[in-house]
Amino acid sequence: MPATLLKGKPLARKIEEEVASEVTELRQKGITPRLSVVLVGENPASRVYVGSKEKACKRVGIESETFTLPESTTQAELLKVVGALNDNTAVHGILVQLPLPGGLDADEVLETLDPAKDVDGFTPANMGKLLLGFPYTVACTPAGILAIMDHYDVPVEGSDVVIIGRSNIVGKPLAALLMQKAKGRNCTVTVCHSRTRNLTSYTGQADIIVAAMGSPKFLKAGMVRPGCVVIDVGINRVKDDSAVRGYTLVGDADFGELENVASFITPVPGGVGPLTVGMLLKNTVKTARFCGCPQ
Ligand code: NAD
Repeated sequence: MPATLLKGKPLARKIEEEVASEVTELRQKGITPRLSVVLVGENPASRVYVGSKEKACKRVGIESETFTLPESTTQAELLKVVGALNDNTAVHGILVQLPLPGGLDADEVLETLDPAKDVDGFTPANMGKLLLGFPYTVACTPAGILAIMDHYDVPVEGSDVVIIGRSNIVGKPLAALLMQKAKGRNCTVTVCHSRTRNLTSYTGQADIIVAAMGSPKFLKAGMVRPGCVVIDVGINRVKDDSAVRGYTLVGDADFGELENVASFITPVPGGVGPLTVGMLLKNTVKTARFCGCPQ
């Protein structure tokens, strides 16, 4: 039997409706949620992501502005921009689009960014709060993964989860969320990575596999047990001369092989991706509630 498709777009639309009504309520109180995005350099994927975040803000009534800085920006210049946004009381949320061009230190930028305005949940303070079990803002992609599984009633509670990828933006925060002692969570989580020996010995036992490593169609049917849940986080551009843009987007899981093996699977595109933006909107409203003051 083919797997149930975990489509992200319908849920993302629902989240946008909820956020839009929260924004209306905040505006009535004199608070206009405002997000400032800092984009450094020419990374084409980053430009696309920032563009889609701007459009989403517009749809729900969040004010957004993007500071586009040249590739040659120095660390000191970037920290100055972030510091000014920290100090600007009209700005509630700040997002520094990652990755930064080579030579810039993202860790120092995140240490500088005011945790109260951290809409990505990437600052050390907010990552620490998540790990300790009292989160403020949570990284958008992991939060989106939980939202999509909850929305489609995927059995998450107490399951054995294997996450492939230990990045600070996906693997680590997702592990912290799933292992929480909380209803619907309580998972036993294994985080695998590029140095994991015999990956299939882990994925082959898992109830839920989250593929987040940035390797096109890496997860194959022979690596999983029938009936498992596959959450595909990967977004990879694969050269395709027949496509208008010259490339096709594929995930880290081989959808063609897995759709008849898994019980649930997220498509790429249209699975986890739309939820990442939805969670960003939710986080921005959260920061506006926390930092907001009548303007
Ligand atoms: P990253 O490059 O920071 O980390 C990749 C991780 O995968 C590393 O921990 C590495 O050890 C592990 N890995 C790499 N090859 C492996 C292998 N062969 N076996 C086991 N582990 C391996 O990546 P990231 O920023 O976490 O992103 C991962 C993927 O998710 C990318 O395709 C990215 O584009 C995508 N992504 C999607 C969204 C979304 O909204 N859907 C958001 C963030 C990232």
